[in-house]
Amino acid sequence: MTATLTRIKMLISLKALPAKLNVFTLFLLLTLNSILSTPLHATSEVSVETISKTSNTLAESQSANQKKQQFTIGILSQTPRKSTKGTPWQFSFDRLNSHPKFQFKALFLNSQELTKALINDRLDFVICDAINYLRLEKKYGILRLLTRAEQYSDQFVSSEGLSVHTLSNNSNITRLQDLKDKSIGVIDDRSSISWLFLEKFLFNHGLIADTNITITAISDINQSIPLLQSNTFDAIISKSGLIDKYFPQGKIDNLRLINPRRGWQAPFLHSSVLIPEWPLAKAWYVDNQIASQVVSLLLNQHNSRSNNSNAYFLPQYYWDIALNYNALNELFFFSENYDDEADTEESTLSQKVQYWISFIIICFLVLILILYLRSSRDLNNKLTLSKESLEQEIKERQHAQEQALTHQAELAHVARLSTMGEMASGLAHELNQPLSAIHTYVQGCIRRINMGNTDLDAIVGALKLTAQQADRAGGIIRRLRSFVRKGESHKTYSEINQIVNEVTGFLETQLKNKQVSLKFDLEEDLPPVLADIIQIEQVLINLLKNGIESMSNIEKPVIMVSTRRLDPKLIELCVIDSGHGISEDKLKRIFNPFFTTKTSGMGMGLSISSSIIEAHDGKLYAENNPEQGARFCLTLPITEEPIIEEQAGKDNNE
Ligand code: ADP
Repeated sequence: MTATLTRIKMLISLKALPAKLNVFTLFLLLTLNSILSTPLHATSEVSVETISKTSNTLAESQSANQKKQQFTIGILSQTPRKSTKGTPWQFSFDRLNSHPKFQFKALFLNSQELTKALINDRLDFVICDAINYLRLEKKYGILRLLTRAEQYSDQFVSSEGLSVHTLSNNSNITRLQDLKDKSIGVIDDRSSISWLFLEKFLFNHGLIADTNITITAISDINQSIPLLQSNTFDAIISKSGLIDKYFPQGKIDNLRLINPRRGWQAPFLHSSVLIPEWPLAKAWYVDNQIASQVVSLLLNQHNSRSNNSNAYFLPQYYWDIALNYNALNELFFFSENYDDEADTEESTLSQKVQYWISFIIICFLVLILILYLRSSRDLNNKLTLSKESLEQEIKERQHAQEQALTHQAELAHVARLSTMGEMASGLAHELNQPLSAIHTYVQGCIRRINMGNTDLDAIVGALKLTAQQADRAGGIIRRLRSFVRKGESHKTYSEINQIVNEVTGFLETQLKNKQVSLKFDLEEDLPPVLADIIQIEQVLINLLKNGIESMSNIEKPVIMVSTRRLDPKLIELCVIDSGHGISEDKLKRIFNPFFTTKTSGMGMGLSISSSIIEAHDGKLYAENNPEQGARFCLTLPITEEPIIEEQAGKDNNE
């Protein structure tokens, strides 16, 4: 139990946890650590096979001494096997299982299975070729204990190489590079070839299997030379020394070794460099004491080494102290990418899934981009179309507005002419006064001169009065002309009270004739309004005229004209009469064009007046006066008069 606890603690405290040991496993380890005080059968229920297996073996060896402690050794092999019987490994396993307390089981696994079993902690020891060893050492922290040795003649060799043979008379293949586009047989009778080493060896000479060289495995070594002679293969590759060892000298006389090299490590010639033979390594969690017992068991094989040089028929592997494998790193440019080649099925699968997910996401994004570009192009087209139609509409509207304004100006002009016609008698009366005065003054002057009265001062005085009356008559004519002028709207800053005075003066005769008394309620110091004076005068004349006409049967008819500031931004002008007022149903229609209740009326006065006031951003409205008559009011906005700089400068100086 103490040994198990120590082992679990070692597991947890080890800094170099393998990369693939996931959080889940760690959690289970911790759980196991916490429940170690419970009986053993409880421990065996833990689902992590490795931990339970190892802890079981240790625990069981202590609780039941008769039972041996179990260890599993993974052996790299392309050919699946059930046991070591009849293989060169048999001898080593016999040695190992001679231990009184330990039991060793062999698992023949290919490269991927070996990695997977190691990740899942199913192996205690690993035997594989040098290149695979370096990969597993780097990734999963396995540690070499011994290096395999083979007996050649009387020498034990711990290095392996590759030999390339062709027929002696084959002049096409003289260098390794000549193997390009050739068909090659590889002798793998006892899973003796290190395939990764072969792959690297070929690659270093520009050869890639299934790309520019055809590789076929030959599982029966006896077939190799006949296949070469029958030209099925252009060359054969084998583990160095194997052919020399297996075939009698005469049989290999017609073979030629390509790129022959000799190293001090081995008694045979070889085509490749020599690399250390396969190591036996322990998994990182295996106790050192157990490892040292394994080492001593296998090293003792030396005592029983065979002196039989023809030992191939009883092949067996021997073991020497582990060689240094690190030099291989440089030799084969060992890289991360190379590591990944031998990664597990799961990681390959997850890489594939990741690849497909990325691919789908990219396709999706490209699709969205295409849709977006298409819809934005459509939108752009629609926008351009609607912009064009809007521009067209604006043009048409402007044109219609211009036409309406012209029409309105013409209507107003016609209305003014008709007003003037209606007021003709009143105007004639008004003009008559200055003209009769002029006549009187001129007659007086003539009479004085005829009588010889040459009092020049008196004559000049009378002529001055004549000139004054002529000016008065001229003023009336000027006002009339400007009132009936046809022209476009011309707005100026004007005092509303001044407009009221002007218009009431204009209608003075008419008011007198109808005996209408005019009253004023004008607020003083009103700000100016920006208005076309003639048009506002026209509105005011209309309202006053309508007021006068509405009081035709009324006793003591009165019209009140008032002005006031309605709010900070509006001025109001009202014309209030004491007539009959307007009935509710008519009140809704009096602003409609051609609505009239008069026999000689046109029904255009209020309609024109309303559009004039609206064109000034104001409003014209009518209501009945609470006491009597009707009340017509208009509003005009107050516009700040721009301050002329010169004036402002003057004001400042003052
Ligand atoms: P007209 O004076 O040619 O009839 P207006 O557009 O000026 O055209 O007036 C339309 C109608 O509104 C008038 O016929 C009249 O019935 C009514 N009206 C206008 N002003 C007054 C008022 N002060 N009192 C009563 N009714 C009025």
